[in-house]
Amino acid sequence: MVQSTLNRPNPLPREIAPDVFWLGECLEQRQQNKIYHSYNAAFLVIGEAASLLVETGHPKDFPIIEKQLQELLRGRAPLKYLFITHQETPHSGGLGRVLRRYPEAILCGDVSDYHLAFPEYEPRMRWMKEGDEIDLGGRTFLLVEPVIRDMRTTWWGFETRDRVLFPGDGFAYSHYHEDGHCGKVAEEAETLDLEDTTAVFADLALFWTKFADMQNYCDRLDELVKKLDVKTVAPTHGLPITDVAATLPKVKEGLLYGSRVAERGTNDATFARPSPMTEAVG
Ligand SMILES: [Zn+2]
Ligand SMILES: [Zn+2]
Repeated sequence: MVQSTLNRPNPLPREIAPDVFWLGECLEQRQQNKIYHSYNAAFLVIGEAASLLVETGHPKDFPIIEKQLQELLRGRAPLKYLFITHQETPHSGGLGRVLRRYPEAILCGDVSDYHLAFPEYEPRMRWMKEGDEIDLGGRTFLLVEPVIRDMRTTWWGFETRDRVLFPGDGFAYSHYHEDGHCGKVAEEAETLDLEDTTAVFADLALFWTKFADMQNYCDRLDELVKKLDVKTVAPTHGLPITDVAATLPKVKEGLLYGSRVAERGTNDATFARPSPMTEAVG
């Protein structure tokens, strides 16, 4: 087990579907005089011929994610693809390091702007859009409609054999460390209040949801989940969802609640400390 920077055992990595692994570790956020935890997760999808990494985690998590990757990839199909849902740092902050350590890997998705930071890797950046697929051997990774998007460049991913959706900032919510939620899937975290924790993200990272009729987005979410027959949801910030029928209604309630209530403030100033905390969600 890789030691956590939070000085406690890290429950990740965890297999959330066959050969689909949840990587990273918790991030503390202080809000409303409470300590919330969230993830800036990455996910590893291992195929028969190639493996694919979804997101790279927050820059502070990269040393942990790198060790998790090394252990999980030992003797398995090499890492040939990196898909990032969008350019924000908690999602893409390890991009240069992944491409440097895995010289076979190609960056896929909407690859706008990455060449400005990493011109040396431009030949390894491949544009993809909705409907484009990557064959990993025995399983396929498909780009799908990004219903909840943080940036115009956002795409969501979908693994077609075990039907795992990777929605980036969709399904964004915190969890309660004190309740033992760390490393659990949403259905195991019995005291998780999805209204409260989704509203935290509406304030901090998805502010446009305050001004939109989120019912429209909930309807689109239903359509997408039905069309793809999603079995598992692997969100970057929330806990993974393994019972979509039971949990999706609660997530939709959270989105509607987050857009309905007034802003509850940014990260608490009284807890402010010199760290990337205030930029750590998004
Ligand atoms: Zn946690
Ligand atoms: Zn995000």
